[in-house]
Amino acid sequence: MEISDAVRLRDASAGTLAARAETLARKARARAVRENASLGCVFVHEDLDGADGDIYPVTRERVRAALTKALNSAHYVLSVAEVEAWLLLFPDALTKTVSSWQLPQQYRNRDTGTLIDPKKIMKNSVSSPARRYRESDAAEVVARAIALNCLDTPSGSNRSWSQLRADATECGGHHIPQMRRPS
Ligand SMILES: [Zn+2]
Repeated sequence: MEISDAVRLRDASAGTLAARAETLARKARARAVRENASLGCVFVHEDLDGADGDIYPVTRERVRAALTKALNSAHYVLSVAEVEAWLLLFPDALTKTVSSWQLPQQYRNRDTGTLIDPKKIMKNSVSSPARRYRESDAAEVVARAIALNCLDTPSGSNRSWSQLRADATECGGHHIPQMRRPS
């Protein structure tokens, strides 16, 4: 299930952060009840909206701790600088999504977390006016990357992407199977 919520966590003060994490937890539990499902684990995503640096691990840990306190099992996915930086890791998936899209050489094999404005790169350098990249395209690029089986072989690096992959592995191995065990 997916819950869209514009609430900001990364720049909230300690008290506000705890309250917002509680609100998110309440919404997730209510949604699970409505769907007659058990709440296994929750992934919460937010963009850092800034290039990778010292602030990334500090912010990530602070919000992760608050979410873990509010929910029994949670992951905080903080993309650096934003989701588009992840898309730049998969040039073949970009071209599979729209055949005219090409990742220019200067953005290949890079730490895409250091790029200031990956969305602009997607809009102006990868795509063209013929078929301009839109934020709603991101899911399809990821789906193409999954189909190409290249999620674990990105063409560059981005430690927020590596973190997401580590979280997904941890979740699949430790969080979800526990929920499937008969009680
Ligand atoms: Zn999990």
